[in-house]
Amino acid sequence: MQLKLPPRTSPKQFDAALAAFARVVGKDWVLASDADRDAYSDIYAPGSAEPWASSAAVAPASVDEVRAIVRLANEHKVPLWPVSRGKNLGYGTAAPRMAGSVVLDLGRMNKIIELDARLAYAVLEPGVSFFDLYEEIQRQKLPLWLSVPGNAWGSVLGNAFEHGIGYTPYGLHARNLCGFEVVMPDGDLVRTGMGAMAGNHAWHLHPLSYGPTLDLAFTQSSLGVVTRAGLWLQPAPPSSLELVFDIPNEDDIGWVIDTIAPLKISGLVDQNVFIPSWLGKMVLKGQRADFWDKPSAIPEWRVAELLKQYKLGYWQVALRLYGDETVVKAKADIVKAAMARHLAAPPTEHWWHEGEPMNAIDTTMGVPSAVPLQMSDWVGGRGAHMGFSPVVPATSEHVLGQLKRSRKIIADHDVDFYASFTIGGRFATNINMLMYDRDQPAQIDNIKKLFNALIAGTAQAGYGEYRTHLGWMDTVMDTYDFNGHALRRLNEKIKDALDPNGVIAPGKQGVWPSAYRAQAKEGRA
Ligand code: ADP
Repeated sequence: MQLKLPPRTSPKQFDAALAAFARVVGKDWVLASDADRDAYSDIYAPGSAEPWASSAAVAPASVDEVRAIVRLANEHKVPLWPVSRGKNLGYGTAAPRMAGSVVLDLGRMNKIIELDARLAYAVLEPGVSFFDLYEEIQRQKLPLWLSVPGNAWGSVLGNAFEHGIGYTPYGLHARNLCGFEVVMPDGDLVRTGMGAMAGNHAWHLHPLSYGPTLDLAFTQSSLGVVTRAGLWLQPAPPSSLELVFDIPNEDDIGWVIDTIAPLKISGLVDQNVFIPSWLGKMVLKGQRADFWDKPSAIPEWRVAELLKQYKLGYWQVALRLYGDETVVKAKADIVKAAMARHLAAPPTEHWWHEGEPMNAIDTTMGVPSAVPLQMSDWVGGRGAHMGFSPVVPATSEHVLGQLKRSRKIIADHDVDFYASFTIGGRFATNINMLMYDRDQPAQIDNIKKLFNALIAGTAQAGYGEYRTHLGWMDTVMDTYDFNGHALRRLNEKIKDALDPNGVIAPGKQGVWPSAYRAQAKEGRA
């Protein structure tokens, strides 16, 4: 990728900044060739990745190096874009919101600082991946389980900072974070919660600070660079049972939600229950050309044929219960009776007991896997995907309303429909996967129009997205419009107070420091 300098930085200033960075991290860890910039670009960008091109990357190995880099960024007025492992596929990968930013790659800081089975928590640096943590737990034979996202090739902390979700009782990942260490935009170092006291023993156990609790202010945020955090883990259960229900019809999602959400809210079901539509299974069986030979969206009659041929329901519910076997059995009876009021076919049941091997791709048991990446191959070519991800109340009215609305908008744009609802408690996260070939300009153009139509139509109906791709961060922030965008004004005030030079992640989630507010117009898809 061609060099795009940060706004208002001359080539001479930029070179001076990189030379100063190299004096901190060593020249091998300042990555500024065309090939380096390619490596940090958004490999799933809808169309060209240029609007979100970094100018370079710098990879510190310690907190002191992070602090030194942040101070130099202020001195040289060069903006940084922190990433943990930078694997945020579908939302921008490692690429920055503002073109010309320098990626601050924390992947080398990959120490598992603590792993405590007694109180079930870990203390991690940002570069620790789900696979690293899983393997270390296996190596030490600790009775701890992870919660992983569908595609778990990224960083444990990075995913939680971006509000990622998983499908276990610990599935709302940001809620498992406890006690942060943060390099502030001026290079100062802060520890939140009990960690504000030097040597405090309960830093990663008590989730509140003395005074305002700021931990989550550093997630989906540009207010600092998190250099370590505590993470609560699930104690490994002695047994677990998976109940797999095939749900025949599209509209059945209404009774499924009204049946499962109350069980989740009451605590009988403790897992985040993932309910994908049929295409979630088909993407693992081949490419769309194997099932439908036209460029247009697969029509409903063909969907019906495919469901019959592959013996699939329109939706699948793989509900998992965890705990002592007698308790799991009793809970399973209640779940089965509730589902049987609507569904004649009993579920398929899979028991697991302590000591037995785990299924290598079971996200509901916290086993990391990259298998769902296969979905990008659905359209063929240089396939990629983006997720349109609004959050709705977990009731049939809201879920069916959301389903019909997004279904119509997606059909109007002649794109295959692949939705999932994940019951997280009182809410359901609705992820609509949109697959495209990066080398088909007409397809890309259509996907961009579709994405804008989805955001607008969904916001008009009273729902917002929990996370989005770089190209829509401002568009989505625009939809959070109460009292003349009061939340954005507050975010900007805090941003300017803490980061007057705007050096940390300008534009992240549509929050711009005044130093770069003019850039907000650029890089919108
Ligand atoms: P993953 O590798 O798990 O996909 P990323 O490293 O891509 O996660 O992080 C996702 C996003 O979270 C980044 O784009 C960045 O905005 C934010 N982020 C990640 N790590 C940090 C960090 N250590 N400090 C502050 N923000 C971070």
